Amino acid sequence: MKATFYGVRGSIATPGIETVRYGGNTSCLHVELDDGSQVVIDAGTGIRKLGDRLADSDEPLTLLFSHHHWDHIQGLPFFRPIYEEGRQIRLLSAYLKKTEAMAVLDQMIDPHFPVSGENLHADISVLELDAQGEIRIGDAVIRTCPTNHPGGGAAYRINTASGSLAYVTDNELFPPGKPATSYDEWKAFLEGVDVLIHDAMYTTAELERARGWGHTSIEQALQLGCDCHAGQLVLFHHDPSRTDDQLDAILAESRQRVADQGCRCRVSLAQEGETLVF
Ligand SMILES: [Zn+2]
Ligand SMILES: [Zn+2]
Repeated sequence: MKATFYGVRGSIATPGIETVRYGGNTSCLHVELDDGSQVVIDAGTGIRKLGDRLADSDEPLTLLFSHHHWDHIQGLPFFRPIYEEGRQIRLLSAYLKKTEAMAVLDQMIDPHFPVSGENLHADISVLELDAQGEIRIGDAVIRTCPTNHPGGGAAYRINTASGSLAYVTDNELFPPGKPATSYDEWKAFLEGVDVLIHDAMYTTAELERARGWGHTSIEQALQLGCDCHAGQLVLFHHDPSRTDDQLDAILAESRQRVADQGCRCRVSLAQEGETLVF
């Protein structure tokens, strides 16, 4: 399995010299399965560049959405494959009913966008979860779990013969009120995953002022990475105000914290353009 980050930023795109190393595009991950199947998770601004790479082919594409907040969908109108005649594109927003999933195209309406979603040339359809709440693509089994986020959302875990990857963003591990998924349930869902990509938007101090907004602190994400025995934890959905230098410092502190706990999880920060092969 190969996973490449095309967007790692939360909330809003942040181009500029202070974010050039980690990247300023909003959430988008490309996953190439062992059999060559193409999966895209979230369609933030980073998906535009991915669209150039995936265009001019007849390979079917599967697009998984964590949820439909702007920073996870706003690149979709600029994703070239949706304009390709007959290109097979399957959408899944696992937290929504099948009839609601096409709402991701509602952003393409007058006066917000010049091309209507109804006039796209690709063959766009909505996937349904099977009776076990999973989907299968080739030899991969993709499981989902509800996130703790305003309006709801879905996390995905992709299990293949060669390895496993989980994408859990816009998720508050300890939200005020009853969580959609408790900490113990997250540990069970993520147990032993090879690569865990998790929301780490806030510092501990920032989270105090942002409780209920549906995001996790770096410290809490590190704890989860250790508690679920992830091989690698990739901190994701960086706050838009975070500079590259600040992210460097966060990475160094995070590695130290994990080492001090005697936890074996490797910690990294999601970086635009980076590919993980496992
Ligand atoms: Zn977000
Ligand atoms: Zn969100």
